[in-house]
Amino acid sequence: MGRIFVVGMGPGGLLDMTPRARKAIEDANLVVGYNTYINLIQDYFPDKQFIRSGMTREVERCRLVLEKALEGYNVALVSSGDSGIYGMAGIMLEVVNKSGSVVDVEVIPGITAASAAAAVLGAPLMHDFAVISLSDLMTPWELICKRIECAAQGDFVICLYNPKSKNRSDYINIAREIVLKYRDSKTPVGIVRNAGRPDQASVITTLEDMPDNEIDMFTVVLIGNSQTYTENGRMITPRGYDV
Ligand code: SAH
Repeated sequence: MGRIFVVGMGPGGLLDMTPRARKAIEDANLVVGYNTYINLIQDYFPDKQFIRSGMTREVERCRLVLEKALEGYNVALVSSGDSGIYGMAGIMLEVVNKSGSVVDVEVIPGITAASAAAAVLGAPLMHDFAVISLSDLMTPWELICKRIECAAQGDFVICLYNPKSKNRSDYINIAREIVLKYRDSKTPVGIVRNAGRPDQASVITTLEDMPDNEIDMFTVVLIGNSQTYTENGRMITPRGYDV
């Protein structure tokens, strides 16, 4: 019986991939993942056998991984960023548990979009922060709004994942309006697209001017807390040190 590695490959580039993640892919006989992620890494691992799958086929992808492991393959299932943060780790464990198989699953963490983006912007995550996905595919929109409201009320720095897609173009604006109930309109907002990838782009704006910026599903949005400021083009959330 083979083993399963659920690999957090980091935001994209080889330098941001941990040696452990890299080794798991190198040791695997088969690498499975969503098209976009395989495209990002396949040049680094030219001798590997890859299986690509579509975006919303997560459970099928995990069932295939399990099937291949039972056939004897060591399979690396790749996830962007961290495999356990809106990644494939949970689904893979659930699929294996449900099947009753005793295949070994190793979860390998990676640099998540929030930390990759924070490093691009400066140091916005120096204090408590909340990570919220705006995807309502699996979570009721009312619950997402409640979490945004609570995080805004609690003065958390807020990282929004899945901020926009074709079917949910106004969610990011609703999120902004909720935060504006508790935070100044000049609060810094960092927007990073494709962090750590060749076409990385970033901007630091404010809650007020946020709507002028393009935000899509390859973007993560970091909203500062009441203490966050921008200086010399870097977004900083002070931890409270006297400097
Ligand atoms: N497991 C991933 C998150 C998957 S959810 C991680 O830990 O990073 C997908 C969302 O993550 C995207 O819609 C986007 O909001 C964010 N994301 C993933 N990679 C990103 C990157 N390189 N740059 C900016 N945002 C990214």
